[in-house]
Amino acid sequence: MGLLALGTALDWPDAKLQAHLVRAWGIKQLLEIWNKAKGKERDAMLWGDEVEYLVVTYSEEEPKVLLSLRQADILTALANDTDLSAKGGCVPELQHIHRNGEPLPVFHPEFGRFMLEATPGKPWGIEFKELLNVEPNMKLRRCIAKDHMLPNEHPITLTTFPRLGSPGVFTEPAYPVSGPKLRSQFVPDEIANPHIRFPTLAANIRSRRGRKVQVNVPVFRDEKTPWPWKDPTVNYDLNQWPEDDDVRNGAAPDNFIHMDAMAFGMGSCCLQITFQAKNITEGRQMYDQLSPLGPIMLALTAATPIYKGFLADTDVRWNQISKAVDDRTPEELGEKPLQNDRWRIPKSRYASNSTYISTDARLRPEYFDPDLVIDEDIKQQLLDGGMDDRLATHFAHLFIRDPIVVFNEDLQSLDLSKTDHFENIQSTNWQHMRFKPPPADNSIGWRVEFRPMEIQITDFENAAFAVFMVLITRVILSFDLNFYIPILRVDENMETAHARDAVLERKFWFRRNLFSARPPRSSGGSGSSTPRSAHPSRPATPTGPVEDEYRLMTINEIINGTAYANEADNDSGDDFPGLIPLVESYLDSVNVDVVTRCELGTYLDLIRKRASGELWTAAKWIREFVRGQKAYRGDSVVSEEIGKDLVGAVIKVGEREQRGEGFRGLDVEGVKDWGRLMGGFRS
Ligand code: ADP
Ligand code: MG
Ligand code: MG
Ligand code: MG
Ligand code: MG
Ligand code: MG
Repeated sequence: MGLLALGTALDWPDAKLQAHLVRAWGIKQLLEIWNKAKGKERDAMLWGDEVEYLVVTYSEEEPKVLLSLRQADILTALANDTDLSAKGGCVPELQHIHRNGEPLPVFHPEFGRFMLEATPGKPWGIEFKELLNVEPNMKLRRCIAKDHMLPNEHPITLTTFPRLGSPGVFTEPAYPVSGPKLRSQFVPDEIANPHIRFPTLAANIRSRRGRKVQVNVPVFRDEKTPWPWKDPTVNYDLNQWPEDDDVRNGAAPDNFIHMDAMAFGMGSCCLQITFQAKNITEGRQMYDQLSPLGPIMLALTAATPIYKGFLADTDVRWNQISKAVDDRTPEELGEKPLQNDRWRIPKSRYASNSTYISTDARLRPEYFDPDLVIDEDIKQQLLDGGMDDRLATHFAHLFIRDPIVVFNEDLQSLDLSKTDHFENIQSTNWQHMRFKPPPADNSIGWRVEFRPMEIQITDFENAAFAVFMVLITRVILSFDLNFYIPILRVDENMETAHARDAVLERKFWFRRNLFSARPPRSSGGSGSSTPRSAHPSRPATPTGPVEDEYRLMTINEIINGTAYANEADNDSGDDFPGLIPLVESYLDSVNVDVVTRCELGTYLDLIRKRASGELWTAAKWIREFVRGQKAYRGDSVVSEEIGKDLVGAVIKVGEREQRGEGFRGLDVEGVKDWGRLMGGFRS
């Protein structure tokens, strides 16, 4: 969640009064670092992943699985253990990382008091061999984490806890609802990390909105689901807080699972990848080119079919997080005429990207959102400070938001050797890509973070998706690929990715020709700094209608290409090479030893088979697991018993993976064929 400042956090009305100052100082700090770092060259091609875990208490004897709220104790135990390597359970992975001279992984707090985040001890380098260190490192992280927990605690990588916010006890220890910060009728304040930043974030988002957040997910209509469906867990008779009126004012519509707190969104786990670019131009190119891949990777990694004890009719977490931190006022939402606020704002501060930033001459004006909301004053300050129009527009869009958490101590004087005020706004703009400038000391380069992917149940899968993103980024740079489509089509794709089984059932807007050449004498000059491949098909830059540049494609076509995908999927008659074949031809063009190539192949296989439907997404697997349980009554309810069996199955998979056992044919009640999900496992 970014850097944690210490001090006195202002309540919303006071924080609001300081918003202008924080933005003004944030822009000065941005210009300072931009001027210092804009000419930075030849930074190394480094990258790093972030894996997030839920911590659960589970044992076969106990009737329930619970969320453990011991995050702080676990992090303390990890921090105080100076000789992690002495831990017995993690031997093979430790040997592996010692051989490779890697530092031990690093653990971080997260919003949920039941969450942990872990990153490699240092970023990964450019070597292909290095890609093979990712999976053992992820397994080691899980092992070390487990080693610093109680025997009945387990780190698991489900995106959401199946019964977070369900009636009854779901945390260990248990706390009563509801508290003054979240005012949720479903979760206690103690669900959030107690560091003042987190409850303040939640409380001030609620205050700014003027009501609680409304996280409504369509319920999955199964055979015996009553219809219309009314969320049976909503209490309409509470009178403790003014916000208890929300549900009486229509916050909980029929046929939706209703949730009312930040924890329902920010309490979900994801897989993020950060890339360092060699310079700002390349960083801006990576940001733009990876952007249209966001919704595709979201659908491919879908893992979120359950909320608050019910099967949902969607497969991914994204929109729920978006709603869980949506601080827009009724005026900004367009529900009331503008009086006190400056703009109507079409998206939450957690949303898909809103603009492109590269200097690439292939970036046509038609790709931009004509209605992008920006702060013109801020943009002018950035232009006056020497920043170009496109980048100034990007930051002037991020800076339409208020800072949510403001510490009194930080407002005494402006410190240009820091980036705290800039980061305050930047790190609470949760878009699906993040363009990360160097830190104030300029010690590292310009970075781009890819944020949409859902966490996967196994480290094999998490490593596979991380590695795939690294390879596709290399392909983009070395073949100088062009993925541009209008940014509003990327938004549409993001919505499409939510549909149940979108990976197989839906089509996504995607660019037909990835090889369109840059116009001669590219204005931004970024083309000249990028290695070009001698790819055969490079037609002249299209100048026709933008709509002709893209079409709807299945994910199978996008990933595997039209030659592999079912002919019936392709009603356009167009050929499309497919991202995996492009990665393969890239790997053919560089020097990769046979062993590495073969190992990388197992990761690419997982992606390929997810796209073709040969392997299931975790979302599909979880949904079918629930529906296959004896205790399931066909009514969309994920009971305590089913929740326990699901988490138990997930823990079992993790233990088998830690033991290095293969997964094909593993037979667990209700899911005869684990290979459907786990087929990529090596034994
Ligand atoms: P945040 O939570 O703000 O996204 P984290 O520090 O948790 O950031 O994780 C960022 C990831 O970036 C980690 O995997 C880390 O190893 C990686 N990383 C750190 N420095 C660099 C760098 N110079 N280039 C690329 N990746 C880096
Ligand atoms: Mg995180
Ligand atoms: Mg973080
Ligand atoms: Mg973060
Ligand atoms: Mg992080
Ligand atoms: Mg991150």
